[in-house]
Amino acid sequence: MAFDFDMIQRVYANLGERVEAARQVVGRPLTLSEKILYAHLSAGTPSRAYERGKAYVDFAPDRVAMQDATAQMALLQFMQAGRPKVAVPSTVHCDHLIQAEVGAEQDLDTAKNKNREVYDFLASVSNKYGIGFWKPGAGIIHQVVIENYAFPGGMMIGTDSHTPNAGGLSMIAIGVGGADACDVMAGLPWELKMPKLIGVKLTGKLSGWASAKDVILRVAGILTVKGGTGAIVEYFGEGAESLSATGKGTICNMGAEIGATTSIFAYDERMAAYLRATNRADIADAAEAVKQHLRSDDEVYADPATYYDQLIEINLSELEPHINGPFTPDLAWPLSNFAKAVKENGWPEKLEVGLIGSCTNSSYEDLTRSASVAEQAVSKNLKVKSEFTVTPGSELVRFTAERDGLLNTFENMGGVVLANACGPCIGQWARHMDDPSRKNSIITSFNRNFAKRNDGNASTHAFVASPEIVTAFAIAGDLTFNPMTDTLTNENGEQVKLDEPQGIEQPVKGYAVEDAGYQAPAEDGSGVQVLVSPTSDRLQLLEPFPAWEGTDLKGLKLLIKAKGKCTTDHISMAGPWLKYRGHLDNISNNMLIGAVNYFNEKTNSVKNQLTGEYGEVPAVQRAYKAAGIGSVVVGDENYGEGSSREHAAMEPRFLGVRAILVRSFARIHETNLKKQGMLALTFANPADYDKIQEDDTIDIEGLTEFAPGRPLEIVLHHADGTTDEFLANHTYNEGQIEWFKAGAALNLIRQKTNA
Ligand code: SF4
Repeated sequence: MAFDFDMIQRVYANLGERVEAARQVVGRPLTLSEKILYAHLSAGTPSRAYERGKAYVDFAPDRVAMQDATAQMALLQFMQAGRPKVAVPSTVHCDHLIQAEVGAEQDLDTAKNKNREVYDFLASVSNKYGIGFWKPGAGIIHQVVIENYAFPGGMMIGTDSHTPNAGGLSMIAIGVGGADACDVMAGLPWELKMPKLIGVKLTGKLSGWASAKDVILRVAGILTVKGGTGAIVEYFGEGAESLSATGKGTICNMGAEIGATTSIFAYDERMAAYLRATNRADIADAAEAVKQHLRSDDEVYADPATYYDQLIEINLSELEPHINGPFTPDLAWPLSNFAKAVKENGWPEKLEVGLIGSCTNSSYEDLTRSASVAEQAVSKNLKVKSEFTVTPGSELVRFTAERDGLLNTFENMGGVVLANACGPCIGQWARHMDDPSRKNSIITSFNRNFAKRNDGNASTHAFVASPEIVTAFAIAGDLTFNPMTDTLTNENGEQVKLDEPQGIEQPVKGYAVEDAGYQAPAEDGSGVQVLVSPTSDRLQLLEPFPAWEGTDLKGLKLLIKAKGKCTTDHISMAGPWLKYRGHLDNISNNMLIGAVNYFNEKTNSVKNQLTGEYGEVPAVQRAYKAAGIGSVVVGDENYGEGSSREHAAMEPRFLGVRAILVRSFARIHETNLKKQGMLALTFANPADYDKIQEDDTIDIEGLTEFAPGRPLEIVLHHADGTTDEFLANHTYNEGQIEWFKAGAALNLIRQKTNA
């Protein structure tokens, strides 16, 4: 329906030549990840090698996917680029804003009413710029992508951390911020540090209660939440080939929990089967023709320790089901040890809710395996002890599961089928609880389980497991239950044991759907109007940031000298502010409210140099802006670490801050600042941080000769009439200096588009 087969053919047409060129420049056999990465250099055919973990590389991804929360600012920014259409195939998925309360139909209606202006904006902007739009209820971004868009050997970015789910179809799929998505849609290269590679060799074969989910739960236990940082996790071995494509997707999806850049499996017959089952036989045929490039070279498989930076081996035949948690996904418990851990740690034994589905685990295979357990609740006359919810990942899966009686089976056991959306996985869960702060336990087949993630209650102990284990636990209502060894007492007082789950990989009658919820964009969107109400408090069209005035910057006021850690959360807080993500003016009221003021050690309290009074950071900055005075934010080490949230760079730019001067930057934030036309500077001598005083007026000199590698000069005018001068370094290259001069990278693209 929606995939772009021409684009895929173009990728495959170049693949062999690029892989061979990469082999030559790298000078050794290649892993699968390297083949795909080198085949997607924005410069085309590889002409040099890039050192893993060190070199920054410009890539040209094939696709972009965006979920509705992050798409808003990405698309508002994209509109600034002045392009008539997106440069690469792109899609928007309405999945994050639907709250689970009573059940699919009613919850969806409520969400449509509540978020109407956001949906109308996303639908109209998609229609105008050639973007595929998946309506609320169509499904969760990653499930919809794997069903429709992922293809072996491709490279995509998505504005969501679990984008790597598409690795189940052998795609390099990476989660990014909205600014990156905007760049790629606008035709700019996308930069990434060449990832390191972690190899995971899977031997043996899963059986019984063990599933693909348990592979990643085990890997998370081994590597921990940081172990994959800066690396691609590549799975291989005979065990890998024994897993279904969607099972592989589950494993790749949850690679985000170990911080991995992405995860991937080599193309194989199981992927071909999934492509054919989901109406993409032409892609399977095309992939088959280039399959030697969709796996690592033989030498890599023969001697993996030589080619991967780290190697792990897991024997699937010995793998036990795992339960991970609470509060962190890397606390991995084999099922046989879990009951003991529950007792020893005093976690609430009573299980209150079991939740299956989400983008991690809602394939047809997952639902059939869970339904085979759920069915036993009825057939064995068991009273189900916990609440139970099912979140299908897409309308395709939901419709097929309904047709095949699976949803009925869940409902017969007392389950509630929720909308095809994120719902409880992202805290969009109006949980019915007597005391919403009570200590309690839940278990999900989702991926994240940090405190408050599901229901906002810090005392909810959330555990993560496979959907079949979640289903068995929900029947038992008890975290100390082991379905492999324990019996349950049924309504007749008999002891019964649950049989092992049975799954069906692809529906026997094929997938079916009546209305998948997809809206194709207009062929010619030039006449389409983007719908944004001028009175909306959630959405606001962006105005281009002003170009540089062509002079040095004089008379800037110090806004804040931030002390210690200042992450993107300190600069642009999340939580209640999320709803303003599409409204730059409104969300700017959270600018730097979490940063600690060096001079009074308080947050959100800085001196307004115009009045001498202390006020909230955004309010003081708005006062400077109203007076036509620019300002400077001073920070410490690793300023802007955390997420890639572009709001953290856009807000100060919007409110009139002219420079961020720090001891050091987190790299992504530094780039984001540059893209927004802001000066991102570092103290040439970090000790000069100490020279900044509360009442300083600041000049930035040298801008008329702004050039790569040439420091700028900072002059501090202190309140007592004395001055200090020192140098500030920067990392702007020629192109980035042009961004600064134009006022923003997108301004420059617009100028070029209109030229
Ligand atoms: Fe993210 Fe959960 Fe939605 Fe998946 S289901 S995209 S993990 S919020």
